Amino acid sequence: MRTPIIAGNWKMNKTASEARAFFSEFIKLIKDVKDIEIIIAPPFTALSAANDAVKDTIIKISVQDMFWEEKGAFTGEVSPIMIKDAGCSHCIIGHSERRQYFGDTDEAVNKKIKAALKFGLVPIFCIGENLKEREAHKTMKVIETQLQGGLTGLSENDMDKIILAYEPVWAIGTGKTATPAQAQEVHKFIRDYIRKKSGDKIADGMRILYGGSVTPENINGLMAEDDIDGALVGGASLKPDSFAGIARFA
Ligand code: PEP
Repeated sequence: MRTPIIAGNWKMNKTASEARAFFSEFIKLIKDVKDIEIIIAPPFTALSAANDAVKDTIIKISVQDMFWEEKGAFTGEVSPIMIKDAGCSHCIIGHSERRQYFGDTDEAVNKKIKAALKFGLVPIFCIGENLKEREAHKTMKVIETQLQGGLTGLSENDMDKIILAYEPVWAIGTGKTATPAQAQEVHKFIRDYIRKKSGDKIADGMRILYGGSVTPENINGLMAEDDIDGALVGGASLKPDSFAGIARFA
């Protein structure tokens, strides 16, 4: 049995005081939620407020990105050691906005995944095709290339710790969700890829999240699919009631 994960990515939204206000509302709304993992990724400047707010709850705090080096002359970057020290447990890596606007390549993503694992952070490794690639029927090829690049050189022990997130770029922030069947088709392809690479035990245990305009209204249909183990949520994670509505999926 795979424990479902509902993760929120706040992107470049919320100050520390806005984060505190969110959690004081959200924690009340999910206090009876059990048997799932809830993760929220605030911006770096709100991590301390977020970590204070979620003490004694089931909520874990993630970052949205990190650099792979431990320390040094890398102006503007944040290292895995600093993230651990700030009390975080997870790190989103390879989000399509990082790939699109900040030039994160598969090679950089691979270095970040390895660095996260080395310092005991759980990577939430994002992959997904854009609209042009989907329309050209290249979805599976793109997914395979991203999986190959991101997972190069990882041991079975490493693979066992990773969370995957399939996020079709055309569905992110557009209000256009993949249908449950479209998402399931790619999730199955991903699990089969992991099965070939790392065997049944790792593949059957791997949590594969769907991301792309997830809402309280469409979460149940997505979660009913065999290979969808949770959601990575952008816009709808910014409001306590909508994110709680997703976390409380039936
Ligand atoms: C995301 O950015 O990871 C995302 C899925 O965003 P949204 O839910 O807003 O589409």
